[in-house]
Amino acid sequence: MKINVNDGRSIHFWTDKWLGNTTIKDRYPNLYKLSRHKDATIAKIMTEFTGLDFNFCRNLQRDEVRSLIQLVEELDSINLNREEDDLMEWNVAGEKKFTLKSCYDALSQDGNDNLDTDVIWRKNIPSKVAFWIWTATQNAIPTLDVLNNRGIPIINRCWFCKCKAETINHLLLHCTVTSQIWEYFIQAQKRIWVKNESLLKNLVEWRSGQGTHRGKKVWLLLPYAICWAIWLERNDRAFNSAENSVDNVIIKVKGFLYMWGLKDKIFEGLVFSDLCRNWVDIVSM
Ligand SMILES: [Zn+2]
Repeated sequence: MKINVNDGRSIHFWTDKWLGNTTIKDRYPNLYKLSRHKDATIAKIMTEFTGLDFNFCRNLQRDEVRSLIQLVEELDSINLNREEDDLMEWNVAGEKKFTLKSCYDALSQDGNDNLDTDVIWRKNIPSKVAFWIWTATQNAIPTLDVLNNRGIPIINRCWFCKCKAETINHLLLHCTVTSQIWEYFIQAQKRIWVKNESLLKNLVEWRSGQGTHRGKKVWLLLPYAICWAIWLERNDRAFNSAENSVDNVIIKVKGFLYMWGLKDKIFEGLVFSDLCRNWVDIVSM
């Protein structure tokens, strides 16, 4: 992954490889240890008005000052472009464009061979969604429990059922409210599905199985569309104080399936409103 720094708001100053081939944390472990904000973004440290704001927990000793001078020299060439978002450019095996295939290959080369290609590489899933799903299976998306574990003091309560703590597996699989979305689609295809404890296991064991040609194709896209719609709704609730009903989220899921199915003509001859009205008939045709 090549990182192009612009506004510096999406890149971790200490722990991402954005300056040189190693992280700043690895090059300056003594300074990293003293930093109060180990998760800080570049923008947080390289502030617009006050220059560099490292927020060390104590005054530096002589050798630490030497390290700091060296680091500041490295940073000298960096000019943040605060008008534009940071960019991540995938650059593995000569592939400049981000593809899931190159992602998977890179991870496999790292000796991380317990990944299931079917899970990462599913036809017609937009790479943004598939990559997000993969991140979710690694428990690396910012659900409230993850933020709590990073020391951010937030009351952890699920945005849907508003009683259990939010974890990735609760949010996407086991919450009583988001479960209704799964149940709607599973029942529509007259399938029986016992949910696994974890998202990854759920995806790995999700197979096309029996059904019509269209039904099988829809079934394979389903967990991605459901999880993605839940996540977007979750963010709407968390950041925009908006709250759509379960029925509305179900319509969004159908919208994703309709869009993702265009290339394979899964819903050929149908308009989107057909999907909203006659879903059960459509998936059994
Ligand atoms: Zn819940």
